[in-house]
Amino acid sequence: MAERVTIIGAGITGLTSALALLEAGCQVRIIDPEPPGSGTSAANGGQLSWAFVAPLAEPGVLPQLPGWLTHADSPIRWVPRLDPALPAWGLAFLRACTRQRARATTTALLELAALGKPQLDDWRTRLGLDFDWRANGKLVVYRDAGALEKARRQAAFQRELGVEQEILDRGALLEREPGLERHRNSLVGAVWTPGEEVGDCAKFCRGVASHLENHGVSIERRRITRLESEAGRLTAWHFSDGERQQRAANETLIVAAGLASRALLAPLGIRLPLYPLKGYSLTVDLDADERLFDTSVTDAARKVVYARLGSGSNGGRLRIAGIADLDGWQARPRASRVEMLKRQASEFLPDQASRIQATDAWTGLRPATPDGRPRLGPTDIDGLWINTGHGALGWTLAPGSALATAQALSKRDIQALTKFRLSATG
Ligand SMILES: Cc1cc2nc3c(=O)[nH]c(=O)nc-3n(C[C@H](O)[C@H](O)[C@H](O)COP(=O)(O)OP(=O)(O)OC[C@H]3O[C@@H](n4cnc5c(N)ncnc54)[C@H](O)[C@@H]3O)c2cc1C
Repeated sequence: MAERVTIIGAGITGLTSALALLEAGCQVRIIDPEPPGSGTSAANGGQLSWAFVAPLAEPGVLPQLPGWLTHADSPIRWVPRLDPALPAWGLAFLRACTRQRARATTTALLELAALGKPQLDDWRTRLGLDFDWRANGKLVVYRDAGALEKARRQAAFQRELGVEQEILDRGALLEREPGLERHRNSLVGAVWTPGEEVGDCAKFCRGVASHLENHGVSIERRRITRLESEAGRLTAWHFSDGERQQRAANETLIVAAGLASRALLAPLGIRLPLYPLKGYSLTVDLDADERLFDTSVTDAARKVVYARLGSGSNGGRLRIAGIADLDGWQARPRASRVEMLKRQASEFLPDQASRIQATDAWTGLRPATPDGRPRLGPTDIDGLWINTGHGALGWTLAPGSALATAQALSKRDIQALTKFRLSATG
């Protein structure tokens, strides 16, 4: 009998899990009150950041912590508030800030990304999914020689793991991307990664959702309010309309509800170390003949990414994203942060400044773990699995997480999950 799987969440992690499980022969359904791809997956930076997976928690971040509190223009800000969830997360974050742990996490995430990259490519081509995908590589540009030197060391470490990256000095950078010529005096160089891609995550989610529905997967627009367990087994779940649904004998429930996964699992005694990192994005329409850099560009000092999504007769769109604030659990934008992102983007792209200023900002809450690793696979409760905690890399890591989950569920091969199990990571 086919394995039955119910997935909570129709964001990028839930939908890719459903697709991988469907293709592994499982009988799948998804539950989410919102339309597919409308949570944090709705307007992210679009980066399929296969090679840039190093966690935020690393030793170099420690001297920057005071600036998170005091510098209004810091790309990461901590807005102090009384929040019982923060101290434990913050302490775990500080404990993860060692060179050894940062490197182990980078290695694990590179493996997960490498698992997912060919899978995404396969889905894109075989299923004919159009999500404004572009494979033009990525330039991470630096304004400071010290920061570029640090990036050079990181690239050397990643080269040992098979990642192809090149350090460019200013001349080589401008030769590769003449569109950055106006910043000649402020840029010192870049890391060039030819294998990087971009794509519209929400458009991909909608395409996958429609493929799933055409292949017998139901996507039920309902909210789950509570999970029930007894003697170490998941027994049932409750919906917001009061219905209680009994778990079938061969059924697995996967919680892929992004940040909300934490509250769903807590009553069962499962402590999922998730905390929201609030980010912002802007989307600007481009003209067909608009002159703009062709690669994906990241302004390293400001941690702002610029991705050209799509092309063709209408020129496509430019997605600008950045900011990672510890600013509570509401996705409401802060005017000062929107103003900062618009100002920085307008300085970087003066020709697009009027459109950047006129566009509405989008805000999303990254479901972040302290060490930067997602939490995947079976929990200690029989029948209950998780696939969440992808933080700033959910679009990039979702295909690998989905494939690893499907392999584990359908073939009992948990090899690819071992570095991401709750029990292994805490
Ligand atoms: C500004 C910004 C830029 C980013 N840029 C990038 C990038 O360039 N590249 C990258 O790889 N990642 C990026 N990310 C991260 C990425 O967007 C997230 O990691 C990813 O979207 C998380 O996906 P998810 O499916 O886990 O969560 P979500 O997309 O939030 O989906 C969770 C779903 O669960 C549903 N749900 C919640 N509770 C319940 C319930 N009780 N019952 C039923 N359903 C429920 C919600 O309605 C939602 O649809 C960025 C994030 C932000 C904020």
